[in-house]
This record gives sequence, C-alpha cells and structure tokens, in this order.
Amino acid sequence: MSNYKIETKCIQSGYEPGNGEPRVLPIYQSTTFKYNSSEQMGRLFDLEENGYFYTRLQNPTNDAVAAKICDLEGGYAAMLTSSGQAASFYAVMNICEAGDHIVCASAVYGGTYNLYAHTIRKMGVEATFVDPDCTEEELDAAFQENTKAVFGESIANPALVVLDFEKFAHAAHAHGVPFIVDNTFATPINCRPFEWGADIVTHSTTKYMDGHASCVGGAIVDSGNFDWEAYAGKFPGLTTPDETYHGIVYTERFGKGAYITKATAQLMRDLGSIQSPQNAFLLNVGLETLHLRVERHCENAKKAAEYLQNHEKVAWVNTPALPGDKYYDLAQKYMPNGTCGVITFGLKGGRDAAVRMMDALQMIAIVTHVADARSCVLHPASHTHRQMNDQELKEAGVQPDLIRFSVGIENAEDIIADLQQALDQV
Ligand SMILES: *Cc1c(COP(=O)(O)O)cnc(C)c1O
Repeated sequence: MSNYKIETKCIQSGYEPGNGEPRVLPIYQSTTFKYNSSEQMGRLFDLEENGYFYTRLQNPTNDAVAAKICDLEGGYAAMLTSSGQAASFYAVMNICEAGDHIVCASAVYGGTYNLYAHTIRKMGVEATFVDPDCTEEELDAAFQENTKAVFGESIANPALVVLDFEKFAHAAHAHGVPFIVDNTFATPINCRPFEWGADIVTHSTTKYMDGHASCVGGAIVDSGNFDWEAYAGKFPGLTTPDETYHGIVYTERFGKGAYITKATAQLMRDLGSIQSPQNAFLLNVGLETLHLRVERHCENAKKAAEYLQNHEKVAWVNTPALPGDKYYDLAQKYMPNGTCGVITFGLKGGRDAAVRMMDALQMIAIVTHVADARSCVLHPASHTHRQMNDQELKEAGVQPDLIRFSVGIENAEDIIADLQQALDQV
C-alpha cells in the first residue's frame, strides 16, 4: 500500500510502468500466456509459482485495476469479478458451504437480498436478516452455531441506511466470523470500512467506480486482518488441504493472501465470473476521476435534497447527508466528508404522483442504473424491488412511494430546473 493521499491513489495506484513501457495501463486482450518450458507451466498450475496462464484465473490488466481498488480501500489483496452480484456471491461462498449460515442486514440492494434469501439457500446456505438498527442483543441472537459471516452495506441501496460498522464488527468478531461490507455507495473516497472493523469489502464497480454507466463489474477486497486459523474449525476451506491443488492449505501457504487466493484459484477457476480486460481498462479510467466525481455528486445531491425539502408537493426527503435525517449522526461519524449522490423522496400524492412526476422529467432519465455521471430516477417498488411483497419492502426500508434519485454531475441549477418543471405538472 502506498502512502499517497486518496486522490493520488485514484490516479497512480495499481500500475507503474518500467523504462520504455506504456504510460497508460495496457489492455492485455489475451486469453493465454506463453511459457518456454512445460515444467514452468506445471508449477503455475500447482500454485507453486505466481504467474499468468489463463485469463479466467488472472490477467495483468485486471490485476492492476484490482490493486488500485485494494489500495483505495487500504486492503491487503483484491480481485475483480464480472459484476457486483458475482462479488457478493463469491465473498460469501468462499467461506460457506451447504449447512452454513450468514447474518445479513435487511436493508440491502434488492439483488443482494434475492441472492442471499433465495439463491444461496437452494445451495444449502441460509441467511438471517436483521434490522440494521437493532440492538446489540438482537444482533447477537441472530447468530447460530453454523454462522460463517456477517454482511451489510455501508449506505444501503436504496434505503440509505448508514450501517453502524462498529456494532456489526463487534458482533461478528465476538462470534469468530468476518464482517463483509458492500461499500458501493459510499466508495472508498468517503468511507473505508476496514478502518471501522470490516474484514472484507465488496463493490459493484458498475456504479460510481466506473461512473459512466459503461461496464458492469465487481470487486472483492480483503483486509488480511481476519485470523482464519484462530477459528480453523469454522473455515475448513481455508485451513485444510485443497485436494485440487495437491493438498495445499491456503492459510499456511498464502497467509494474509489466503482468502483472495482461494477465491481466485478455486471459485474463479470453477465458476468463471471474470471481468473482461477491456472492461477493467474502462473501469480504471473511471477510477482516475472517482475523487472528483464523488465530491460533485455529493454537492449536487445536497442541493437537490434541500430544494425538494422546501417544495410544497414533496412529502419527505431522505439523505444521510443533511441534519435531521435518522442516519445523519452515523454518517458524520463514518463518512464525515460526504455520503453519496443518491437521495430518495416521496410526493404528497403518493405512488401515482411519483410515477407522473418521473414521466414528466426531461433531462433526468428513468433508468435501472444508479450512481453514474448522468442524473436518473427509478421507482424501486415497480422496478428493482418488484419481486418483493409489501412486508419484504418494508424490511428493506423501501416505501411504495419512494423515488430513488441518483443525482448526477451536471450543473445543479439544470438538475433543479428539471425537477421544478416536472413537479409543476403533478
Ligand atoms: C448494483 C449493486 C449491486 C449489484 O451490482 P451489479 O454490478 O449490478 O451486479 C450490489 N450492491 C449494491 C449496493 C449495488 O448498488
């Protein structure tokens, strides 16, 4: 990890060209890599030596971008995945198998909820969802003998709940399991979960990191801090021999790198959800301006929220960035420089008014996406969260009239003018 400030890391980390090499990170658009001897290639397959042989496992472009994200988070090792969903899946399945259990904050992205509530359940891994605002006792009660991880989002999409990291980290560690945080919305510019006790961080790089809505992608970063060997019985995948690599034990061979090495050498090998080097290149271009964009997103979101708060047709506005919000104090503690560019609001006319207002917007588009340069809106109850029933919506912190507004980096006056003309038509 370099000692540079975060703005410098956005530009400089991950790739350092040697003499006469390309200044800009090259796209290694190659599935495979050439070796002079069969013996040498064999050692790579046995994880005896570090090196590239097939892009499904590792690729130099992807590795450079993963190293940058690792540095931004202050982690030990990182990997890219094909999507944020793949990152959430791998992060948990790297340490869980059939018969295991996880504890998850109930206010999470709809896709994450489906993945943990339904899909991994079919693979034998159960999740208990807890109210992120629960007491320490309630959180404690969610753990079982077979619990292997705790998961939450730093700022929940779209509930905008700020996670009390210290409470969740404390509970996870008291039960001898790692605390995994999806840091997509806050980004490492505003919040670094490792500084508050998280062990593993995941990202949908599709959002602010890419920032231009051009590539779906994900990342997993390991702090290297969780002591797998201290709880060896819980994590046999990391602490007992892997027969598919002649019986190596990940914690013995790779130390702090055990978790990411296993996820790469085993899960990526077998499941193959890799990011393409081309997409990793574009992600890296996005990362170079992450610090500038996130600051402007937050500034514009505050202005838009203040405008909406003072509008007579608006019933409520949620943003942990403004005083009076339920999560303002937690945001001040964990992300004092800013939260995210996403805010939510409801109109006095309820669900119908929400749909009418959205249809009247001119510049601000209705799209499924969130957290890119262009302002956009979405109605989760009819879009991303439409598979959920009313009870599930409530638990996820999504009111039926909620409009999710991802405030872009256009001029704030133009954004507000569009809101104004659309509200005039409701
Ligand atoms: C979008 C999103 C995901 C899923 O990421 P994809 O890249 O769309 O697969 C996970 N977590 C959060 C917080 C998200 O916003």
